[in-house]
Amino acid sequence: AQQTRKEVVTMADWLRANFGPTLCELFFEPFHELYTAGLFREIAPQDAYKTPVNLSLVIRGAFDDVPPVGYNATFVYPEKGLNVLAQRMAKRCQIQYGKRVVKIDVENHELFFEDGTGARYETLISTLPLNQALEMTGLEVGEPADPYTSVLVLNIGAKRGPKCPSEHWVYVPRSKAGFHRVGFYSNVDVSFLPKNARERNDRVSIYVERAYPGGQRPNDTGMDEYCQTAIAELQNWGWIGEVEVADATWIEAAYTWSKPGSRWRQKAFKVLEEHDIYPVGRYARWVFQGIADSVRDGLLAGSAFISNNKPEK
Ligand SMILES: Cc1cc2nc3c(=O)[nH]c(=O)nc-3n(C[C@H](O)[C@H](O)[C@H](O)COP(=O)(O)OP(=O)(O)OC[C@H]3O[C@@H](n4cnc5c(N)ncnc54)[C@H](O)[C@@H]3O)c2cc1C
Repeated sequence: AQQTRKEVVTMADWLRANFGPTLCELFFEPFHELYTAGLFREIAPQDAYKTPVNLSLVIRGAFDDVPPVGYNATFVYPEKGLNVLAQRMAKRCQIQYGKRVVKIDVENHELFFEDGTGARYETLISTLPLNQALEMTGLEVGEPADPYTSVLVLNIGAKRGPKCPSEHWVYVPRSKAGFHRVGFYSNVDVSFLPKNARERNDRVSIYVERAYPGGQRPNDTGMDEYCQTAIAELQNWGWIGEVEVADATWIEAAYTWSKPGSRWRQKAFKVLEEHDIYPVGRYARWVFQGIADSVRDGLLAGSAFISNNKPEK
């Protein structure tokens, strides 16, 4: 009898259909439990290109070396650092720092900032996360917003542990503290270490990421407790030794997701554009993309804006 294939509706279904029960139990399910903060059983599959499936490479990989695959097997990085690229772009722009938008009056084309000031606009290019942009305008789309996850990034500078991986980053399917990825800045480039530690290579600079359901930020005590637990676990694994500096950053909208069949995103774009607000960038467009894509989107949006404002000849 022909076996009926389960319909693929959610990301969990997609993982099972593509990787099968064994790989799912060993890696994909526990990893996605952490990475999506439990959402993978209710969200639509997305970003299939991040986990390409090639059966012949999988079989070859069990016995031999295989060429690297995936969306980030090679990447570009500015020689002088990403911060220098951002600073050089910023030099050519007019930027007002510390101006947090809290409300957008779409009728009068006016922005209101947290510090009580305001500004008028004709057309708005918005990098606000799409859900926040809608909320600030008060515009309705008749559907609940799609879900997102927040990430706590714990940056650590430490003595290198005896079992410290040499990879650039490692996806972690199981951890007591709840983190799902550890990346090693100093394995990418030695300039991510203090100058006096570069030759001996006995230090390591790392980031540790843990996902939370959107907006469920732990309080300060919860955050401190998590950091201590994560550090102890990494020390226990022998990845790091004594910690010299640790700093946690909360990223409110870190990964954006969609419910199966949701039209919220398209409806949100439409209603915002009808009010001269153009969402640009990863969180505004509610997509997964890297820094280079957002830089490109910003440059394209800027150039469209400039050519629109040029006086006609
Ligand atoms: C944990 C994590 C790891 C990542 N790792 C990588 C990586 O290794 N490589 C890679 O290429 N990409 C990585 N990314 C993705 C990368 O960070 C994003 O793609 C990129 O930063 C998106 O740029 P953006 O300009 O679209 O949005 P953002 O960088 O979020 O820019 C939005 C801007 O809007 C501003 N803003 C937001 N709200 C307000 C407000 N109310 N008022 C005023 N201003 C506001 C913000 O301050 C910010 O400057 C990672 C993302 C996360 C969350």
